[in-house]
Amino acid sequence: IDKQGEVSYKRVPTDALMRSIQLGIANSIGALANTPDRDILMQDFEVIENVAFPSSGSNTTPSHSYSDFHFKTYAPIAFRFFRGIFKIKPADFLKSLCTQPLTELSNPGASGSIFYVSADDKFIIKTVQHKEAEFLRKLLPGYYLNLHQNTRTVLPKFFGLFCYQSFGKNIRLLVMNNLLPNSIKMHDKFDLKGSTYKRFASKVERAKPNPTLKDLDFNEEYKGGIFLDAETYDSLMHVIERDCLVLESFKIMDYSMLMGIHNIDSAEVEIGAQTSDDDDKGGPSRRDSKDRPRASIDGSSQMETWKSLQLDFNTKAPHEEGGVPARNAKGERLLIYLGIIDILQSYRLLKKLEHTWKSVLHDGDTISVHNPSFYAKRFETYLKETVFRRATSEIVHGKHAGR
Ligand code: ATP
Ligand code: CA
Ligand code: CA
Repeated sequence: IDKQGEVSYKRVPTDALMRSIQLGIANSIGALANTPDRDILMQDFEVIENVAFPSSGSNTTPSHSYSDFHFKTYAPIAFRFFRGIFKIKPADFLKSLCTQPLTELSNPGASGSIFYVSADDKFIIKTVQHKEAEFLRKLLPGYYLNLHQNTRTVLPKFFGLFCYQSFGKNIRLLVMNNLLPNSIKMHDKFDLKGSTYKRFASKVERAKPNPTLKDLDFNEEYKGGIFLDAETYDSLMHVIERDCLVLESFKIMDYSMLMGIHNIDSAEVEIGAQTSDDDDKGGPSRRDSKDRPRASIDGSSQMETWKSLQLDFNTKAPHEEGGVPARNAKGERLLIYLGIIDILQSYRLLKKLEHTWKSVLHDGDTISVHNPSFYAKRFETYLKETVFRRATSEIVHGKHAGR
């Protein structure tokens, strides 16, 4: 933010940046429509397409009122294939990303990345560092292999990698799935790593309307953990295990489990309070509020969604992924939205980032164990033993909470 109060990233005003990105993506996806679908080839992963966008316009690009820029699309055919696997149609992708303004999200991270979310809540665009973009490009064949073998995954869904270039500056943009739909109130939001070193949210973060809390906050606020019914627990833990194995094999570290928690019982009380404000007939009892149709956050229908997801994990559009039904230790009904994020830090990169390195080193005793397999093991153990608990199905589905 400069003295005039104009928001900028790498000195590019973010509004102009956003609109230029939208032009670039629209052009790239539009051009791709002329390339017939075909099988993916090894060299597709390395392709970089580069298009000039002079403000005066060109044969293939429209005129615009921003600075001249170049727009690169990385591995266009490969990403088209990924979008296909994730059942995202080109027209919908264009509509979501390019026809309405994107909203900037506040980023609790230290990296200085900007996050944009599409108006329909389906996509997130994250600015990534040069090293991260290069790492992702190397990762693509492996990512492809994994998608092929492992259709049930909570790894990020990558839909596109682009680069905006202007005045010698490069801004790399990664399009991913939005894990936390804005339409559903998240009563709590956690970014969990399984570490304890400095893993509590800062005062500044906590003062925000929707803070992202960390491991130590979770341990405090969800003493006893989160209960999943046995079947859900087993299948989610299996997915996490497999995903961690993939991350470990690529020597990736410092990723997190992002988790949004919607508390159905709190939401009902909140809605009840609102209704009693509206009509003066006295607050409705809990029984009344339960009789109302509550399609979007009904625990049992979400359970069906989760079950069908297990069969066919990747065929759902990102916003259709219902939350996972769960209970807290008080027995309140929850819906959990989760996924692994920030997976573009490799072990070699990390050695240079001392602050991150320290946070990774802290918990163990000897250097030899501080590597991607140590990180994965600790992450998995934390999720399996502290965050999630395996409950009997009466506790999760029963009318009375298991206390
Ligand atoms: P750092 O490297 O300092 O941890 P970063 O800039 O790399 O930060 P991330 O860790 O990727 O950023 O994400 C920061 C925050 O942004 C997350 O804690 C989460 O609140 C939000 N976020 C990131 N990815 C997603 C996503 N796919 N869906 C919803 N929210 C997300
Ligand atoms: Ca992070
Ligand atoms: Ca990061």
